Amino acid sequence: MTSTQDAKAPAGEVVLEAIGLTKHFPVRRTLRGLFSQQQNAVHAVDDVHLTLRRGQVVALVGESGSGKSTMARLLAQLYPRTGGDIRLHGKTTHVRPGRQFRTYAARVQMIFQDPFASLNPVHTIRYHLTRALKIHHHAGSTAEDLESALHDLLGRVSLTPPERYLDKFPHELSGGQRQRVAIARSLAAEPEALLADEPVSMLDVSIRLGVLNLLRDLKERLNLAILYITHDIASARYFADETMVMYAGRMVEGGDSETVTQSPAHPYTRLLIDSAPDPDRLTGVGGSVEDQGTGEPPSLIHPPAGCRFHPRCPMAMARCTTDLPEKIEIGDAPGHWAACWLFDEATVAAETPGSAAVKGASV
Ligand code: ADP
Ligand code: MG
Repeated sequence: MTSTQDAKAPAGEVVLEAIGLTKHFPVRRTLRGLFSQQQNAVHAVDDVHLTLRRGQVVALVGESGSGKSTMARLLAQLYPRTGGDIRLHGKTTHVRPGRQFRTYAARVQMIFQDPFASLNPVHTIRYHLTRALKIHHHAGSTAEDLESALHDLLGRVSLTPPERYLDKFPHELSGGQRQRVAIARSLAAEPEALLADEPVSMLDVSIRLGVLNLLRDLKERLNLAILYITHDIASARYFADETMVMYAGRMVEGGDSETVTQSPAHPYTRLLIDSAPDPDRLTGVGGSVEDQGTGEPPSLIHPPAGCRFHPRCPMAMARCTTDLPEKIEIGDAPGHWAACWLFDEATVAAETPGSAAVKGASV
């Protein structure tokens, strides 16, 4: 497989952008709904902005049900959107199934949580990778070309020697090896962006780091833009350049990963970090946020007014129950923001007379 000129594109170049991206899933009318004009919908993603750049990893962090997978599927054009825009290299894209989808998928590939489900059990690794190479016209013209492209792909995901893996079936590999095959298959398209939806959360804790290191290595060598979706904020700190925190379909905080994880601003981000006791641990065994006695995520059919986090927020003020918080710059690091009224001095002053300057105070 030849490396494309794309791999030489400048690091930092914007590949994919979500602008005010919104997805509402209609839900079946209830008996009561039949008599009302209103069609209910799950507000899975609301007004989300996100930018993926070459050579960078953006982590999208949030509890289960916060809309992360819906974001990935929207960006992969697997769902039509309700509103907002998706731009590939600055151009609005509306992709329909068929050839147009393949052209888009050649540039933006998705990696799913469960490699076992995404690989067909009746086919060998050779079959999966050959098919992907052929679909994207990277199989070459001779049997030797194909063989060398297959070896190259397995080499890129450190499954060597390739002969050991090519003729195996998915069940003959370990979970980590299967996810490496799924990653190799996505690389067969020679994409610019990878959307990785919880790519290590089903893997054994001991091998997660290896797969994340592989993705990081690919990001650097192939200059890929990566969206890393996770419920584990500790792994975001380790792996991502930038971290965005999502709650109940909305973005609540964003900034460079170090700042967001070391000096979280939004009370929800603080809650996520507190529920992951050891920030250097790469996952999964600690208590979940729900275990902390801090309530549950809200219904997305009738999301709370104002800030969606206000019913669970220990710092909630009156305004939080009525007004949607704006994105506010925190000021401790460039690009660090939170959608939280606690960082709006005027709001805090109005709500707590006598304690005006609380910006940056410990919340
Ligand atoms: P996450 O990946 O963060 O766990 P999801 O994006 O899977 O969250 O789901 C967000 C919300 O959208 C959830 O309330 C979920 O039930 C709902 N949802 C997801 N997919 C669909 C669908 N196809 N139809 C209806 N509701 C959906
Ligand atoms: Mg999900």
